[in-house]
Amino acid sequence: MSIPIYTYDAIIVGAGLAGCAAARELQNAGKKVAVITKLHPLRSHSGAAQGGVNAAFSEDDSVELHEFDTVKGSDYLADQDAVEFMCQKAPETIRWIERMGAAFSRTPDGKIAQRPFGGQSSPRACYAKDRTGLTLLQTIYEQAHRAGVKFWDEWYAADLIYKDGKVSGIVAFNIRDMQIAIFNCKSVMFATGGYARSYKINSNAHANTGDGLSIVARHGLPLEDMEFVQFHPSGLSGNGVLISEAARGEGGKLLNSLGERFMEKYAPNAMELASRDVVSRAIINEIREGRGVGPRKDAVFIDVTHLGKDLIMQRLPELRDLAITFLGLDMIKEPILISATAHYSMGGIPVNIAGNVRKNNAEFIEGFYAAGECSCVSVHGANRLGANSVLEALLFGRFVGKTIVAEIDNIELRVATQEDAQTTLDEINWVLSNNGDETIPGLREELQQCMTDNAGAFRTKDTLDIAIAKVKELRERFKNIRIKDKSKVFNTELQEAIEFGHMIDYSAFIVESAVARNESRGAHFREDFDTRDDENFLKHTMAYMSENGDITLDYMDVVLGKHELKARTY
Ligand SMILES: Cc1cc2nc3c(=O)[nH]c(=O)nc-3n(C[C@H](O)[C@H](O)[C@H](O)COP(=O)(O)OP(=O)(O)OC[C@H]3O[C@@H](n4cnc5c(N)ncnc54)[C@H](O)[C@@H]3O)c2cc1C
Repeated sequence: MSIPIYTYDAIIVGAGLAGCAAARELQNAGKKVAVITKLHPLRSHSGAAQGGVNAAFSEDDSVELHEFDTVKGSDYLADQDAVEFMCQKAPETIRWIERMGAAFSRTPDGKIAQRPFGGQSSPRACYAKDRTGLTLLQTIYEQAHRAGVKFWDEWYAADLIYKDGKVSGIVAFNIRDMQIAIFNCKSVMFATGGYARSYKINSNAHANTGDGLSIVARHGLPLEDMEFVQFHPSGLSGNGVLISEAARGEGGKLLNSLGERFMEKYAPNAMELASRDVVSRAIINEIREGRGVGPRKDAVFIDVTHLGKDLIMQRLPELRDLAITFLGLDMIKEPILISATAHYSMGGIPVNIAGNVRKNNAEFIEGFYAAGECSCVSVHGANRLGANSVLEALLFGRFVGKTIVAEIDNIELRVATQEDAQTTLDEINWVLSNNGDETIPGLREELQQCMTDNAGAFRTKDTLDIAIAKVKELRERFKNIRIKDKSKVFNTELQEAIEFGHMIDYSAFIVESAVARNESRGAHFREDFDTRDDENFLKHTMAYMSENGDITLDYMDVVLGKHELKARTY
């Protein structure tokens, strides 16, 4: 039976903020566009963003300060031209989404309210209570729908059609019945989100398995700065579910077992609102030195009781619910237990400001684009500031949509053939028929535990070598899997096997890129090289994977600018 081929002008994989914003631009420009998404769009991880979205428009703030904070937060690894573009366009982006219907929280005199976030010189995060992402995602999804964008919900993108240096579509299957289809088009954009699921303690949705990154890497294309994984200071103890930085932004205090407000030691000026890498390491340090709290002494307290019931119910109602549901603790009455949780991926598919995907340091791939958390543009460098990534996803999603509109008429469609689906057919048949004795949940648990133990907020060459060996071992054992469900109806076991293959691939990028970076910068902290080394490492990692999973590393210059390198203190 032949595989159906659907033809569009452009295909976007991912229906979070980045994907929806791009799709709407294309549709409104009269292009035939479809969005492929393995989740219902409103279940994309963007909808879980709680705390806010940055834009400098208050009287005490400026675009320049936003740029400075972002570059400093990035530990000077961000590309300053991309940072300037983002910060300059941020106020207009907020007005754009507000005009489309997003209801932001207001000040008593009716202005958009802004709360302080870590690493910021001025309160800059616009918010909708503590459900900012959901408000924005609902708005942009509605608007994309209204414009007439075709959404292929619960379709899993399994491969990119990339032949002779040219992109001409994707191969996907319907999760409902395993029907495979080829989506043939002139332009493909990836907006597949982040990859913190390879860590045991993480704040991410189950779907954040980094599929897009591995799909790209398997075609021999590079991934950039994969060693920079952000650990958020406040995940609920034991499971990592996020307690947004909004809790600290509104005045939450961090306390150890002695009742000390320990951030005084680590960041005397910014205290709890130092950048995330600094606060996470401080928390882990307190726990390591025996001042942890909770039954396992592996957490610290965040205390917001002094804010009072009214303010908590008005600004942090979702966070309170989460702590009651998962820990049985009510933050109105008592401090709650938190510790660092894997949260965000600074690295990803390398792109320029316009969203064109890089083939290598010098060349780009015609008709291939990426935006949002799966991409690396790089506005976050070695450490992202809170509330800059919802901004990145919305803003770059929209502008990359405009790039595609501008470029698409000059691209010729390569007509897809049945052979384009062969890799996907082989992959699915292999998973269904393989008859070994390893299970996916077993392998995944080992990977996640190993990444948390050895490639976390603190690393050394020794721990990373353990992780490298483990990832290689798991790659071999993956060849020996067996799934029980052989059906074609909502076969989540099959999907999880495919996703685990992606997790193995991009985890190899994380650990191999990390072991070669003999310095500490932003979220990448090497205990054996505990200072920043600008002379040797002020550069982006560009990593490539061969067919047998080996990683080779190259480096690319950082775009510097008016913000000069300084020691980073808070
Ligand atoms: C709990 C939490 C709170 C956060 N809070 C904030 C905040 O307050 N402020 C802030 O700036 N940032 C925050 N972030 C980060 C921010 O929300 C994300 O970086 C951003 O929303 C990512 O948007 P995106 O469009 O790139 O991807 P996502 O919203 O993650 O969407 C990814 C899309 O890709 C699709 N997809 C993935 N793989 C496939 C595949 N193989 N086939 C088909 N579809 C696929 C999914 O279905 C989904 O639609 C938070 C993150 C988390 C986890």
